[in-house]
Amino acid sequence: MKLDRFYIDGDWVAPLGTGEMPIMNPAEDEEIGTLALGTTADIDRAAQAASRAFETFAAWSKADRLALLRAIRAKTAERHEDLAKAISTEMGAPITMAREQQAEAGIGHLDGFLDALEGQEERQRLGNGDMLVREPIGPVGLITPWNWPVNQIALKVLPALATGCPAILKPSEHTPLSARIYAEILHAAGVPAGAFALIYGTGPEVGDALARHPDLAMVSFTGSTRAGISVMKSAADTVKRVTLELGGKSPNLVFADCGAALEDRVRASVAECFLNSGQSCDAPTRLIVERACYDEVVEIARDAADNTGVDDPRREGDHIGPLFDQLQWDRVQAMIGIGLEEGARLVAGGLGRPPGLNRGWYARPTVFADVTNDMAIARREIFGPVLSILPAGDEAEAIRIANDTEYGLAAYIQTGDPDRAERVACRLRAGAVHVNGAGLGWGTPFGGYKASGNGREGGMMGLEDYQEVKSLHFG
Ligand code: NDP
Repeated sequence: MKLDRFYIDGDWVAPLGTGEMPIMNPAEDEEIGTLALGTTADIDRAAQAASRAFETFAAWSKADRLALLRAIRAKTAERHEDLAKAISTEMGAPITMAREQQAEAGIGHLDGFLDALEGQEERQRLGNGDMLVREPIGPVGLITPWNWPVNQIALKVLPALATGCPAILKPSEHTPLSARIYAEILHAAGVPAGAFALIYGTGPEVGDALARHPDLAMVSFTGSTRAGISVMKSAADTVKRVTLELGGKSPNLVFADCGAALEDRVRASVAECFLNSGQSCDAPTRLIVERACYDEVVEIARDAADNTGVDDPRREGDHIGPLFDQLQWDRVQAMIGIGLEEGARLVAGGLGRPPGLNRGWYARPTVFADVTNDMAIARREIFGPVLSILPAGDEAEAIRIANDTEYGLAAYIQTGDPDRAERVACRLRAGAVHVNGAGLGWGTPFGGYKASGNGREGGMMGLEDYQEVKSLHFG
């Protein structure tokens, strides 16, 4: 397989540079193809096309943009299986999960944006008689990571197109297959020439060129806090809007009042932490447990981890797959090593590969107990199947530990007491609080407090990130 074309101005074109890199399959650590890497000159070319397209695309009526989104929805549904297989191949998500969650996100977010756009008043009369108009901000640059590739692309490309903003996408070069299919979907759905571009490349070159480009009005980034800070600095000289969805170290508070539901709640919590092999920004990685049920919870978590299947992503089932590449495997091994050195109690998993899996970037589902919140395994995002369990004396201490983090993307609460759920949720400094396993609906805003980023993706707030607001005053 040779991905040697970029999608620019409605066409698949040859790159202007000569750089390339291998495409790897994490399940076997085998090269499955090569990928062309872009340069600043490719971004210039796409930005010129985007600026030209903006002149007409910005004036599309809402009805035309809704029709475009519906066409994209139909084409996405047609290519659902292709997307799932591509994601599973390129980053190792098990095929069942790749279908039901990873690829499905492309449809789910689309429904959220369709609802929001239908309901949005783009011209709104204020109570004081003035008029408020929402307009597309302009051509935008989008930088996405490898962990939920289609989910992240949909959360950025769709609101851009929904609001009339031409978009230039740089996906992670580690997940180019699903991005290419997504570009084919947009082309088949009739996205006008110049309104969407796909350029592969590295973050420091192509990503940074998007952040700096004077013709782009905004850059939206998802990835590590380190790279997000770099994007924000590079964007500063052009005063463009920057939205960031960054890392997390999300707390999961478990209270003894769960009663008979405790075992189910803890097993579900462990599964949520290990989902996608732990490579989710909002994974509940710090299990903060009331002392009254601490020993019981550690034992349930140990058993849940020991019984978590790790297997080939091509197999159907609810097992987890490999990490996305050697870099991530090395990072995760290093963090498990640090946990051992810090004196945390290893109750499941540990260093190395699971038994029987000698190739590919598979990690062992790992649980540390007796973790204190000053340890690196409680503070740093590990991005692997590693759970840290911390004891807390009471509710107040659990809240204090939960908020003692630089991040604030998500938080989780397990309790049998609805009053406590409400009270604790209000005190947690995070963009989403999940009670007793409840997930986020399509269209609900997703984003973080503190170093987890700014802006909100999905639904109405996701559209607003791509819009300018103009007030009109008639004499
Ligand atoms: P990065 O943040 O480096 O990569 C995410 C995206 O940003 C990629 O497309 C990347 O390109 C690009 N990028 C990197 N540096 C820059 C830059 N200076 N300017 C513009 N774009 C840039 O994540 P990593 O893959 O290195 O993973 C590191 C850690 O980040 C993980 O262990 C995890 O903790 C966290 N992470 C968090 C994610 C989230 O969803 N919040 C997603 C991915 C990672 P390139 O691939 O070339 O670097």
